[in-house]
Amino acid sequence: MKIAVMPGDGIGKEVIKQAIKVLKAVENKYKCKFEFNEVLLGGAAIDATGSPIPQETIDVAKSSQAVLLGAVGGPKWDHFPGDKRPEKGLLTIRKEMGVFANLRPAILFPQLKAASNLKDEVLGDGLDIMIVRELIGGAYFGEKKRVAVDGGYKAWDTIEYSTNEIERIAKNSFEVARRRNSKVTLVDKANVLESSRLWREVVAKVAEDYSDVELNYMYVDNAAMQLIRNPKQFDVILTENMFGDILSDEASMLTGSLGMLPSASLGEGNVGIYEPIHGSAPDIAGQDKANPIGTIMSVAMMLRYSFDMEDAAKDIEAAVLKFLDKGYRGLDIMQPGMKVVGTEEMGDLIASEI
Ligand code: NAD
Repeated sequence: MKIAVMPGDGIGKEVIKQAIKVLKAVENKYKCKFEFNEVLLGGAAIDATGSPIPQETIDVAKSSQAVLLGAVGGPKWDHFPGDKRPEKGLLTIRKEMGVFANLRPAILFPQLKAASNLKDEVLGDGLDIMIVRELIGGAYFGEKKRVAVDGGYKAWDTIEYSTNEIERIAKNSFEVARRRNSKVTLVDKANVLESSRLWREVVAKVAEDYSDVELNYMYVDNAAMQLIRNPKQFDVILTENMFGDILSDEASMLTGSLGMLPSASLGEGNVGIYEPIHGSAPDIAGQDKANPIGTIMSVAMMLRYSFDMEDAAKDIEAAVLKFLDKGYRGLDIMQPGMKVVGTEEMGDLIASEI
């Protein structure tokens, strides 16, 4: 099982180190072997080679089943031009790996309910929603133009989707739902947008092959409201690129803790890129203050989606819960009466629970 490891910049390096500790614990328990190949990405790659993504990084990623990524960027490279910036490395690796489905869980652990802005009665025993966002189509990639008219301008961006693009991500989201609570909500604007009406047709057709999964539909404006009013009604939310961009940020804040949340970006087959949703956090880098749980939970997603190791994925999630149950907290999720531990110790303690 080959993993391309890209720690990147700032706290990326620190959190990746903890995730590897956890994978080593999984190796021990399951008598399996991961091959880790560490390569440069982002600012670290610019410093060493002049490019945010050297060819070697692309080659190693393409010969691996999974990419484990920390975070890229920092003030040192902020003045660099667009295609020489660390973020260019991130966009390129997503494109090169052909990942079209971005999976962003919004998980609120019952132990951390106080971190959410929502009321106790809305949260119940915690939250677990999975947003599946189409990543490489829609308005961000369709035709864009600006023309001069009447002394001013007229500009447009085009939402374009083909049957194939919708079909592949629909299958993806039904597969994901099968591993969860078997419910998919397609979020769109089918009362106004033709592209949304095509999404509905194609997704309904794909659903015929997944009769064990419930499918329902919701307009995006209503979904934005329902996420706050009654988030527990959702299991998997399937949506196009721009709606997913907005809703996944909204949903992540229901959980109140940036350092805790993982993500996976999947392509055809088992290929995937796994990374925490946070950035390189230059303000706390090198101080043993970063919370590695988002990266550790990303590794659980890697085992589930790229390596089909569901039991090991559940072990990692259970290890994080046990760690929290024992009263340990990172600085960012500190609560009165809890034991604060640094990045390294968090990694050690969670790995030891496996
Ligand atoms: P950020 O996510 O790095 O940090 C925002 C705040 O959250 C900071 O106060 C930080 O200390 C805190 N934080 C983030 N992750 C944490 C963790 N694991 N544990 C504890 N606290 C944590 O966002 P930013 O400050 O807007 O951006 C910093 C740099 O990261 C920029 O260069 C930006 O471009 C880059 N960035 C990269 C990615 C990525 O690699 N995917 C994503 C977002 C931002």
